[in-house]
Amino acid sequence: MENCTEIFDVIVVGAGVMGSSTAYQTAKRGKKTLLLEQFDFLHHRGSSHGESRTIRATYTKDFYPKMVLESAKLWEEAEEEAGYKVYFKTSQIDLGSSYDKSLQAIISSCQKNRVPVQVLNHNQVSEEFSGKFQLTEDWIGVVIEHGGVIRPTMAVSMFQMLAMKNGASLRDNMEVVDIKKDPSKDAILVSTRNGQMFWAKKCVVTVGAWMKKLVKEVAGLTLPIQPQEITVYYWKIEQGHEAEFTIESGFPTFSSYGEAHIFGTPSLEFPGLLKILVDGGHPCDPDKRTWSASPDTLSATKEWIQSKFGGLVDSSEPVLTQSCMYSMTPDKDYVIDYLDGEFGKDVVVAGGFSGHGFKMAPIIGRILADLAIDMQAKDVDMKHFNIKRFEGNSEGNHEDFDD
Ligand SMILES: Cc1cc2nc3c(=O)[nH]c(=O)nc-3n(C[C@H](O)[C@H](O)[C@H](O)COP(=O)(O)OP(=O)(O)OC[C@H]3O[C@@H](n4cnc5c(N)ncnc54)[C@H](O)[C@@H]3O)c2cc1C
Repeated sequence: MENCTEIFDVIVVGAGVMGSSTAYQTAKRGKKTLLLEQFDFLHHRGSSHGESRTIRATYTKDFYPKMVLESAKLWEEAEEEAGYKVYFKTSQIDLGSSYDKSLQAIISSCQKNRVPVQVLNHNQVSEEFSGKFQLTEDWIGVVIEHGGVIRPTMAVSMFQMLAMKNGASLRDNMEVVDIKKDPSKDAILVSTRNGQMFWAKKCVVTVGAWMKKLVKEVAGLTLPIQPQEITVYYWKIEQGHEAEFTIESGFPTFSSYGEAHIFGTPSLEFPGLLKILVDGGHPCDPDKRTWSASPDTLSATKEWIQSKFGGLVDSSEPVLTQSCMYSMTPDKDYVIDYLDGEFGKDVVVAGGFSGHGFKMAPIIGRILADLAIDMQAKDVDMKHFNIKRFEGNSEGNHEDFDD
């Protein structure tokens, strides 16, 4: 196959949700964009496939809610351009003991960001959600209206379609093995395993769980990003109660803080089933996965369902499981920065989304387009995401509670 000798404005490497959203943003700004993916488009071997992701403005760290609110608007703008919906709104409830540090931090970060928040005791939670959640006396519920479900595979496909509609070129089965400066063309040269070469003024690398491997390979830099395998469980709602767990009946997206951080979404993608899982998994090599679940996450989820849903959901065994990957940083904050070194500001990397990136894909795409095209990101304090935060401080922005 002939190599493509044209020089793109931006090459985006990795067509998960972050790369696809970025390609849409750069193409929309009139930049000649190429999106490269190592596997088939919409494959199930990374982090962005599947049927549901939560969007919620409840975060312990107070720089995230503002980003969620901008992202929510950008999801709606993209939906409008595409002509179909991928984002289904409902409320969000965060549950836990009234002393839980995460819940206290969430309440404070909502208040700082002027996100209206209701703090309900166990009886009020039961009333608000018609007896669905059964909490002990010492538990509270923190409720906000900015929750919802995003349909991931549909959303990735939407961004790819919009990128193409705005003039981007998309190529799958193109594993990038090298990224380097090409002084002869005053451009970045991106090479693939099958011998293709592509040039661009700027390159954005969004390769999810492969970030550590690729960045080490091309720049010799070791990013503290650990891939983790995680299992998604679907549980059967008891017969006759299925409709009560839907968005139409006011059922929320939810997170529960305690010994395990559990989260779930209303019944949507598979009628009669609820998605409930533990936020965590086991470390993995993205190219040598076991595709197996961690037994402790299954038992923790069963116990939680038994104690919180009072028999309305069958906790004996999940009826469906799916495997996925997180890319964890030590502080669970993203890494979004220039690669620097010989690349200066010509190569931008974005990864380490630590199991909470999907909802942010539209704003991350906007930020990455800003960084590649305008050399700075508007209205976001990038210090939380810089690579250098781990230098001499392996924990980065770590705080003593979960996100
Ligand atoms: C089970 C599960 C539940 C989650 N729940 C939520 C949630 O409720 N809310 C939320 O906000 N987030 C959630 N997340 C996190 C969210 O899905 C991720 O943060 C997000 O999908 C990361 O996207 P990405 O584009 O960075 O990575 P990926 O989707 O993995 O995309 C990276 C792409 O790069 C490609 N690639 C890798 N190496 C190369 C190479 N050398 N050349 C070319 N291409 C390459 C890969 O094949 C892949 O397609 C969840 C994640 C999982 C797994």
